[in-house]
Amino acid sequence: MSDAKPTDSLFSDLTFADVDLPGELVAAVADLGFERLTRVQAEVLPLSLAGRDIVAQAQTGSGKTAAYLLTVFARMLRQERSTAIENPRALVIAPTRELAVQIASDADKLAAHTSLKTHVVFGGLDYKKQRERFASGVDLLIGTPGRLIDYHRQGAYSLRDTEMVVVDECDRLFDMGFADDLRWLLHRLPYPDKRQSLMFTATLSRRVMQLGWREMTEPQEIVVNRDQLTPETVHQELYHVAAHEKLSLLLGLLEREGGQRIMIFLNTKHAARRLVEDLRRHGYLARALTGDVMQTKRLKVLDDFRDGTLPILVATDVASRGLHIAGVTHVINFDLPQDPEDYVHRIGRTARVGAEGKALTLACDDYVYSLDAVHKYVGYQIPVMFAPEELFAEVVPYRPKPRPRPRPDDGRASSGRTPEKRRTSPEAPTAPTVPTAPTSDGATPEKKKRRRRRRKPKTADGS
Ligand code: AMP
Repeated sequence: MSDAKPTDSLFSDLTFADVDLPGELVAAVADLGFERLTRVQAEVLPLSLAGRDIVAQAQTGSGKTAAYLLTVFARMLRQERSTAIENPRALVIAPTRELAVQIASDADKLAAHTSLKTHVVFGGLDYKKQRERFASGVDLLIGTPGRLIDYHRQGAYSLRDTEMVVVDECDRLFDMGFADDLRWLLHRLPYPDKRQSLMFTATLSRRVMQLGWREMTEPQEIVVNRDQLTPETVHQELYHVAAHEKLSLLLGLLEREGGQRIMIFLNTKHAARRLVEDLRRHGYLARALTGDVMQTKRLKVLDDFRDGTLPILVATDVASRGLHIAGVTHVINFDLPQDPEDYVHRIGRTARVGAEGKALTLACDDYVYSLDAVHKYVGYQIPVMFAPEELFAEVVPYRPKPRPRPRPDDGRASSGRTPEKRRTSPEAPTAPTVPTAPTSDGATPEKKKRRRRRRKPKTADGS
């Protein structure tokens, strides 16, 4: 879990000894070095451990995952299973694969002193393996809507005995078009009064609240920092810059800041890929995390970023929602996001659980039009910085690699393929590279053949 440095702003005065947790969970929390409860945990845990339904608006990085996982595990440890069949007792629905994997990793740590079984399902990877894992029984099931529905339809598991449901990043689930899938899953569970429901969301929109009132039993509404949507420990700066000078300014900022774990956000995957190339050309180690990157590769990129092997992660919003990466020193908005909520999510990647962080935003002619909406949404003006000439670094121009020129004596050069690329079929072996032996007159058989062809008598019509 996080190695972020706590500050006072996100923590309450309560310690984990002040809440009623089973010993196994107290031990896990101690292993993780958690001492005080975050404010979200201090507000949620006393109610959730007492069995209440909750809709909580919580800042990203506020400790919400531990709040609901501790609730789920505490109930499982204190109450026996009601059936012998090992169907999931708790379900966590998350919008993205990365978030699902992250929740599962947090769950493993918090359940380290228990024998509770967690299973995580998400698209793009190990279809059969994920399905087979249900056979050995599951206590806590975590997943993205698509895969959860898929396996449920196949009868891989049932939600009949599920006592608790958590909807994480509910507003994001709606934004990503999962509203129907979410309802489908909720309707497979026991009725709202026969289960405990917890919902976490970055914004308490009308849609989220409506779902809360329909699918929950008198939910307690918890709002932590309603007036302060962005973590107060993030130092924010905004630079107005021409689109064609963005790379130069970014390079200058990277040089000035020298951060260790930097996330750079762009609005499109195409631009993200191009920026990775640009950064590499200037000697920076960077990789892209975009929606179209294969799942195995995405997880590898994230692991490398987490363990510090990869210092710069270039990401689009869809791929980065809900990631918990400790020690992100800088978030750079290379493109100002078009959706103001994304500004909050992006800059929430740094300063997690109270650590200090910097968020630098470049507002260029292409995207500056969304700045007003961002300011309205966060409720303050992002401080504008003037970028002096010296801050713009020199840009090495992009030079495409020259294509190998076709040899003039190569009859097939006009095909446009380079000699290396030409394929040879096994049925038509290429000419031997070793020269064939000369004949008595000193000419090789090839030379003789050519001579013969030249001497061939012309026919009557001159052809
Ligand atoms: P979340 O809001 O779930 O994204 O929390 C982000 C990170 O906060 C987690 O990965 C944990 O490492 C860390 N965290 C959660 N609760 C605490 C706590 N009480 N003390 C210190 N760190 C915590």
